[in-house]
Amino acid sequence: MVDGNVIISALGGAGLRITGARRAVSEAVAAHDGHFTAEDVLVASRRGGHPVGRATVFRSLETMAGLGLIERVDLPSGEHAYVACQPAAHHHHVVCSRCGRSVEVGDIGLDPLLERVQESTGYRIDSHRLELFGLCEECRSGARIASA
Ligand SMILES: [Zn+2]
Ligand SMILES: [Zn+2]
Ligand SMILES: [Zn+2]
Repeated sequence: MVDGNVIISALGGAGLRITGARRAVSEAVAAHDGHFTAEDVLVASRRGGHPVGRATVFRSLETMAGLGLIERVDLPSGEHAYVACQPAAHHHHVVCSRCGRSVEVGDIGLDPLLERVQESTGYRIDSHRLELFGLCEECRSGARIASA
């Protein structure tokens, strides 16, 4: 879970104006312990008393994704969601398919695999995206009631 103020100060640090809409979206993002959709942010902004338009929500989320504050994940259901991110080095998300909480993992030993792909295809691999889905420990043990 991230702090809304961390997002807001990162936006400010990137030279962006902190509009009421961006603040409301940041707070809605920070309020989610797990992955969330644009729709969730829309609903949260209404609930928070600062309703933000759909287009603005999408634009703000894209801006935040561009800054590495959140990251888009494609859920196994085909739905597009976002997870809050620590802006850091290259990493992957392991996402719980029940509660939506995610952990970030760095080097998972992909390099030798990517090299093999380069050799077999002749492509130079510049980037990749990898998301892993499964049940977190709490969901597996049934201790957590799904809230996402
Ligand atoms: Zn991330
Ligand atoms: Zn990677
Ligand atoms: Zn879980």
